[in-house]
Formats: sequence, C-alpha cells, structure tokens
Amino acid sequence: MKYTSTRDNTVEINSSEAILQGISKDGGLFVPKHLPQIEDLELLIGKNYGEIAYLVMSEFLTDFSEELLKDSIRKAYDEKFDREDMVALEKVGDAYFLELYHGPTSAFKDMALSILPYLLKESIGINGIEEEIIILTATSGDTGKAALEGFSDVPGIKIVVFYPKDGVSEVQKMQMTTQEGENTFVVAIDGNFDDAQNGVKEIFNDVKFKEELKDRGYVFSSANSINIGRLIPQIVYYFYSYIDLLKTGEIKAGEKINLAVPTGNFGNILAGFYAKNMGLPVDKLICASNENNVLRDFLKEKRYDIKRDLILTSSPSMDILVSSNLERLLSFLSHGDDKLVKEKMNSLNNDKVYNVDLDLDEFYGEYSNEDEIEETIKDLYEKYNYLVDPHTAVAYNVYEKYKTISGDGNKTIIASTASPFKFGKKVAQSIGIEVEGKDEFEILEAIQEKTGIEIPKNIDELKDKEIIHKNTSQKDQMKEIVNIFLNEGETHV
Ligand SMILES: *Cc1c(COP(=O)(O)O)cnc(C)c1O
Repeated sequence: MKYTSTRDNTVEINSSEAILQGISKDGGLFVPKHLPQIEDLELLIGKNYGEIAYLVMSEFLTDFSEELLKDSIRKAYDEKFDREDMVALEKVGDAYFLELYHGPTSAFKDMALSILPYLLKESIGINGIEEEIIILTATSGDTGKAALEGFSDVPGIKIVVFYPKDGVSEVQKMQMTTQEGENTFVVAIDGNFDDAQNGVKEIFNDVKFKEELKDRGYVFSSANSINIGRLIPQIVYYFYSYIDLLKTGEIKAGEKINLAVPTGNFGNILAGFYAKNMGLPVDKLICASNENNVLRDFLKEKRYDIKRDLILTSSPSMDILVSSNLERLLSFLSHGDDKLVKEKMNSLNNDKVYNVDLDLDEFYGEYSNEDEIEETIKDLYEKYNYLVDPHTAVAYNVYEKYKTISGDGNKTIIASTASPFKFGKKVAQSIGIEVEGKDEFEILEAIQEKTGIEIPKNIDELKDKEIIHKNTSQKDQMKEIVNIFLNEGETHV
C-alpha cells in the first residue's frame, strides 16, 4: 500500500514514511492510494480486539512485518485498558454506545495513541532514521495527555504539547501539567485550539527551520490526527463493534447501521467513513458538532466558512473551526483531485471560506447547544441510569434529531469519546449536583457518590500529583519555544 499527498499526487511513499513525516512537504495530508476491502466480515467473528486490529491494520501498514505489527498491537492494547476487550458496547434505549474511553487517559484518543508510539518506533527502524524525533502536538485537551502518556520516556523521541490556556477542562489541564517523563514538554498558549494547530502546521511547513534542526539531529513528526498513523487504528473499533452486534444477534449479517460521532477535527468520523468504504455495512454517518457548528453548516450548505468566532463550550475537545481531516474527505470524494484540494485549502487560508460541489448525502450534520447537552446528560441518566460526558451527549442529541426528522430505523452506534469524570463540572450540574463552592475533586466525588460509578484511577490519582509544567507562550512564539526546549534540553522555560 502506497500513500500520496492530498495536495500532490506525484508523492508516493510507504506507510512507515507517512507516519514518520506526519504531514506532506506540500502542506497536504497523507492518504492511502486506495482503500483496502475487507469482504468477508464473517471471518472476523470470534476474533478478539487485537486480532481484528491486526487484520485491519495489516491492510494499511504493508511495510511492517507481521511480527512487528503483532508485537506493537500486543504492547499497545494490554492491561493499561480497564477492559479485556479495550472497548465496551452498551445498549441504552435504542442506541448502542461504543465506549472508547477505557484506556489510560479516559478518552478515545487512547485507542490510537497507545499504539502510535510503537508504530513510530518501528518506522524509525524500518527507515534507518538516526535523528531524534520531535513530536509536535496541538491539543484541544485529550490528544495532549494521550500522546504524553504514550511517548513519555520513549528513547529517541521528545514530545512537545501545546494546549489553549482557557480551552480545556480542569481535569484535562491537570492530566497534562502533572505529566512525568524527561522527554515531555507542555506549554499553555495564549490562544485557542485553532491557533495551536496553526502554529504546529506552520512549524511543519517552515523548511528553513526544519533544515536547521535536521543539522542538529532532529526531525519532526505529529501525534495529531493529521498523522495517518492516528486514523488507521481508529478504523478498527468500527469493525469490532459491528462484529459485536452481529455476534450478539442485535443485527443480521449485512444489515446496515448508522454511526453517530461527536466531531471536531473530523478524524473519528473519517475513520468510520473509511470503514464504510472498506466494506463495513454503514449507511448514514451522523456528524455531531457543538456550537462551533462549522461542519454542520458545511454538510448542509456545501460551504466551509470559518468567518466566525470560536466559542468555548463544555465539550472543549470539539472547540475547533479548522477541521483538518475534512481535507482527506475532499480528497476521497473528488477521487484524489489534488488540484481541487489545493485550491480549496488555499481559499480557506486566504479567504476563510470555500465552496464544494460534491455529494455529501451520506452525512447528516447537526449540532447541540449547551442547554441541549445538559438536558441530554440528565435524560440519559434519569431514564437509563447511564452517565455520559458532554461530547457523547452531543452525539446522542444529534442522533435523536436525525431520527426524528428522518424516521430512519437503522441501528445506530454512538461513539462515546470520554469518561464523564473528565468534564465533572458540566456533568454534575446536569444531574443536579451543586457545584458552587466545591473544588474539582469534590465535584468528582459527588458524582461518584450520586451515581455509584467509580472515578477512573488515573483521574483520581491527579489530586496527589505535583504540577510539573508551568510553561506559557504567546501563539506567535511557538517556534522559539520549541527551539529553547531543544537547545537547553529544558522541560521548563
Ligand atoms: C478529540 C475528541 C473528539 C473529537 O474527535 P475528532 O475525531 O478529532 O473530531 C470528541 N470527543 C472527545 C472526548 C475528544 O477527545
């Protein structure tokens, strides 16, 4: 399997090179030249998560030996997860909640970031890279911690994480600022997620800076979902959950299901779209946004328009206007038209808007406001004794809207992306817990007491941890900060 750039079809590289580079020189994203087909789903029945991961991922990572890939999967998906099968599929009402947050940092990012460090390490070996790898990461809260956890103290790799100072939850912030590991570097930037992501992309595209660093023995890579090594592991759980529904008799062989996914950077839902185009019987892809509803407008109006302010919401991991992976969707739907993609991305950059003439009917886009999020968390708890986080609430609320207007009776999987304990304040308020005068951990304990659901260990332990990272940066100083970190080998500046 070869990979090319969404903005230049003459690029042709192997999967390990795509993972190492993170983003293409031309600013485009790496995409597989075609999607592999998994025709006989029956073959997956009876297989565990790791086995299905191997069957799916080996189709994409063809320059990894069977042994290397199996080894990476085994090391990634182990007792760091609090479920033997990594994920849970819970039937609640008429929907199926695919709980993707049972990993070490209690968010779905663990599904890919547990394995990415191993894939990267093997890619270094496969390509004989001698430089040290610097992972640059922009985070809306969850990627940062999951990447830090995955890359902490991995030899030959340093990791730098930029998060928006006021744009993450209390628990998300603590998870990052208490991160141990000599090779970790965490910086709060004076800006929002788009600023962080932009800054990282600018560093990637700064040829001179990259050459300078190369001379000093460093190369950059990315842990964001712009890295194809993030997306491939995310395809796995859509296959896994379909097979689970089949196994338990909830669906018949070949029956089409819908996927409802809370979206910011369009990564998780793109993985579902790829699964569909690999042969998984999926009908509608329900793209759920919060008040930053740029994707909802795009899917309805075929016009991507970011001329608006970014709003800070209770689902901070979706507080994004420039949704990186949409570029991969444009590339796929235009049959790899690199000129078209380049033109659209240039207009986005220069005019903050572009129009497309593509068939987007297999998507349904809608959004939830703060009241709806609160109402949804409350309803699910009161009706079904089931507790969800604000992101998952967005997905369920938009699924309900879709059901009402379409009458579509397909079984639907709701991608459940984070533990409710990562967003304690909003969850507590929604289920009638007084938060006034309580600190974060008192809030979490009150939720535990009221619901009988245990606080995940990794979150509970934060209260005894020391804050290690206190760095801050203006949004236009990210490059200098990276430089200082590399020069001094300092984790604090
Ligand atoms: C990252 C994240 C999302 C959005 O996922 P994308 O695939 O980047 O759009 C949704 N919910 C949570 C909890 C997340 O951490």
